[in-house]
Amino acid sequence: MKLKPTILKNGQQPVLLTVLAHPDDETFGTGGTLALYARRGVKVTLICATRGEVGEVDEKYMQGFNSVAERRVDELRCAAGLLGLSEVIFLNYRDSGMEGSPENEHPQALVAQPVEEVAKIIAGHILRLRPQVLITFDPIGGYRHPDHIAIHKATVRAFELCKGANLKDDQKPFQPSKFYFNTFPRGFLKAGVRLIRLFGGDPQHFGRNKDINLLSIAEVDFPINAKIDYRAVVEVRDQASACHASQGGKSMSRGPLGWFRRLFSANETYMQAYPPPEDKKVENDLFAGL
Ligand SMILES: [Zn+2]
Repeated sequence: MKLKPTILKNGQQPVLLTVLAHPDDETFGTGGTLALYARRGVKVTLICATRGEVGEVDEKYMQGFNSVAERRVDELRCAAGLLGLSEVIFLNYRDSGMEGSPENEHPQALVAQPVEEVAKIIAGHILRLRPQVLITFDPIGGYRHPDHIAIHKATVRAFELCKGANLKDDQKPFQPSKFYFNTFPRGFLKAGVRLIRLFGGDPQHFGRNKDINLLSIAEVDFPINAKIDYRAVVEVRDQASACHASQGGKSMSRGPLGWFRRLFSANETYMQAYPPPEDKKVENDLFAGL
């Protein structure tokens, strides 16, 4: 399928920046969107705050790797290549693990850093890359992972910082034209909860580490202001997902949820943080109007 190039009114190179926390977030949450825009001529860049140091990794995936971080960075490089990302920037913080885990206290843990400090670093990258479209996690970090929430806060603050105050002398103020929060589609979550129950699972202890409460997430209602249909690149997105084998990315497109997704929902959904969205209008293009 030939994809329509993204052409901006002012003739500039379209740039999309997504700011996330771990290797795999780019694919599991926004992979369809990133692959789609890369194929539409957009320069797609990723900031990944950590190297996913504390993710659970089965021994069989560790052959040839000295650490979990090394393995997961390798997986991210694989996915980034398939998705078509132009650049992957690491912020070199440490994965904080789930809420209440001892990893939260590590001095390098992302959640142990002042928001302002992380925001300044992100702002520096925004000023350098000058993306028209900026994406990060929603206010609950998708499924309440502390690192996702920390990156949400730091990116929101970075967006503010780019306007001008407290910039370094050589930094010209700049603000992305549009700012989005990636959200799980609520209808999909609710249907997922029903489906998991139907198959005898427990939606309150979901995921590889059984630490995701799908029920509580499905109850938080975020508005959907943009819905990106990525059916044109669904295969690419699934191949990128398979790169993250240590995080279950291979099996994710199988099973009842994968089947459901392929049939009904090759969509990624976004809440528009800036500019304030027009009532009830759901855009199908993050660059709409630019
Ligand atoms: Zn993550």
